[in-house]
Amino acid sequence: MIMKESDFLTWIYSQNGFDPEKVPVGPGDDMGIVNLDADTPLLVGVDQVLDGVHFNLALHGAEAAGRKAMARNLSDVAAMAALPVGAVASVALPKGFSQNDAQQIYAGLRKLGDEFACPLVGGDVSTWAGPLGISVTIFAKPAGATGGIKPVLRSGARSGNAILVTGQLGGSWYGKHHLEFVPRVREAILLGLKYRLRAMIDISDGLTKDLGRICKASNVGAEIWEDAIPIRPGAGKDRDPKASPLDAALNDGEDYELLFTVPKGQVEKIMQDVADGKIPVAISHIGTITKQQTLTLVSPDGSQCPLTDGGWDHET
Ligand SMILES: [Mg+2]
Repeated sequence: MIMKESDFLTWIYSQNGFDPEKVPVGPGDDMGIVNLDADTPLLVGVDQVLDGVHFNLALHGAEAAGRKAMARNLSDVAAMAALPVGAVASVALPKGFSQNDAQQIYAGLRKLGDEFACPLVGGDVSTWAGPLGISVTIFAKPAGATGGIKPVLRSGARSGNAILVTGQLGGSWYGKHHLEFVPRVREAILLGLKYRLRAMIDISDGLTKDLGRICKASNVGAEIWEDAIPIRPGAGKDRDPKASPLDAALNDGEDYELLFTVPKGQVEKIMQDVADGKIPVAISHIGTITKQQTLTLVSPDGSQCPLTDGGWDHET
């Protein structure tokens, strides 16, 4: 494709014109939403994994590839604080693929789906001369006892909101976290039940890019504090030896952690609940949403530099 992936997506987002009564959320969030009838929203998402891009078949095996395809989709459900209900998969098998390997893909998809009560209810298999590709389409509904948790969009961040993130960031390929991560579906629903989530995304392309997506969708900016970013031990080691752990945490991606914003007044309670074990995941308060529509990294000494898609610009 001559067009850049991000330009293509921006073009798609500009081609809307949906009836908001029927399609409350169109392309551009972690999942789209269609109304089956006035009171019944259905969340839909699709995501693919390709050999050589998202996994390495020779190194990781077919079951891990299938698992990752399902995990990425479940992570998008988590990003909406929604409840998965089912999935379908489409698999492009390389010529000469063994039946055993094909069954391993299915096992990887199904086992993780079962863990989240998300059955694989259909699919399609074709054989071709290219590499292995697995595409999963996932369906979800609003979570909560009576579906009371409204799906959390990227567009709800407001100036003054606190920015928080679960887990640790960076080095996902080094430690195989990108294959083994457990989608934060349960954590997201718990957060949605207890706090006023304003905006949320799962970090697939790195903190800088995905925070940028929240800011763009919400027409705001953000300031993040360098010393508050939770860096995974070993982050940066897996690629350029000169890459710093901070750079890895900002830009590696494939973390599949939840990045979200809440009104500032909720932070103390969240941190207390994490300390008391009421929220079973580490959460870091990493910054503030700003009115000014830029992304800024603040160093411990107070100096600031702009964060850009390709990393951050050292000006000092
Ligand atoms: Mg996502």
